[in-house]
Amino acid sequence: METLETVRAKHVLPPLPYPHAALEPHIDAHTMQLHHDKHHAAYVDKLNEALEKHPALREHTAVWLLLNPAKVPEAIRAAVRNNAGGHVNHSMLWRAMSPSGGGKPAGALADAITRDFGGFEKFKTRFNEAGEKHFASGWVWLVKTRDDKLEVTTTAGHETPLTQGQVPLLLNDVWEHAYYLKHENRRGDYLKGWWAVVDWQEAARQFESAGASSETLHLPSH
Ligand code: MN
Repeated sequence: METLETVRAKHVLPPLPYPHAALEPHIDAHTMQLHHDKHHAAYVDKLNEALEKHPALREHTAVWLLLNPAKVPEAIRAAVRNNAGGHVNHSMLWRAMSPSGGGKPAGALADAITRDFGGFEKFKTRFNEAGEKHFASGWVWLVKTRDDKLEVTTTAGHETPLTQGQVPLLLNDVWEHAYYLKHENRRGDYLKGWWAVVDWQEAARQFESAGASSETLHLPSH
């Protein structure tokens, strides 16, 4: 019999914080429907499926599973890494964007971008180039390193800079499913248009947080 506790320990797809069409014209509603309701949902389902026979692991957050691969049995390690990674990254992605986004960062984050990239436009160029050049599926990130420096980095598949001790401030998805319906093979156009929906307040919240946690990353506690 399923107890309340095991029900609560299942990973849950977070609702999109705005309607599917809210990021139009930069990201079309059909892409958002497939990306959130199908792709992200499938990562959550597959993560729960992988953990079905491992009740002890179901007490942990998706971030914990990513940070403690040695505590995940080898038989499900790849499935957990890929699907917990997909769950964590997409949960952050929806929050990194907003219908009222765009513009420029302010305050301490803006100062750090100027300090470490030589200005906001230079940072955007660096991020666009990294995202465009990344081979195959992956993510492009603005991270805060262990020594509080800002860096642009990319990861393959659904890997996360969290495992390097870095705090993700901003991320974009360069898997084809994120842009192909609207932009087809023009990943560069998608990356350039995307700045109009970036939520800089969210990036500033991550920058000012002491470190990455499920709470600051807006992940469900299980
Ligand atoms: Mn995606």
